[in-house]
Amino acid sequence: MNESENFGTTIRQLRKDQKMTLKELSEKSGISFSQIAKIEKSIHTPPRDTVIKLARGLSTDENTLLSMVGFNPTVNKGPIDGPTEDRMVNIYKTFMKYKFTCQICGSKAPKTQITIDTIIPIKKGGSFHEDNLIVLCANCHLAREAFIRKDGLENDIFFRKKDKLQ
Ligand SMILES: [Zn+2]
Repeated sequence: MNESENFGTTIRQLRKDQKMTLKELSEKSGISFSQIAKIEKSIHTPPRDTVIKLARGLSTDENTLLSMVGFNPTVNKGPIDGPTEDRMVNIYKTFMKYKFTCQICGSKAPKTQITIDTIIPIKKGGSFHEDNLIVLCANCHLAREAFIRKDGLENDIFFRKKDKLQ
């Protein structure tokens, strides 16, 4: 599978998982119907601005989308856990496992922009293993990041919420 096949397949799968038609994705992303069809059939590899628009249309961000297709976004800096293909599968499985739902506030795609977060940050030795990945909305992702920076990972809101639930 080359990069453009990966990309097309992932876009189609994400769109179908969110029960969106080509027309709906076209309206949401501002990319033409025919261009999305070509991208999904891997006839056309999109330029970066199109990737950003598609990611928004699919209620995620560029880095997450690119991670899923095994490109090399900035979010994946640091030690790499297994080959890129595995990482992509793990990220994809995480979206499915949590049903595109933020694990802090419960908001869902496509209503909210969602992203993948690492429970233990890569910088602190975390990996892209399935067990270390969660789905968060963009707001909770930023809030959690600021919280960890200020109060430390051991007081992480994600873990506190998890404790409460158990
Ligand atoms: Zn949230």
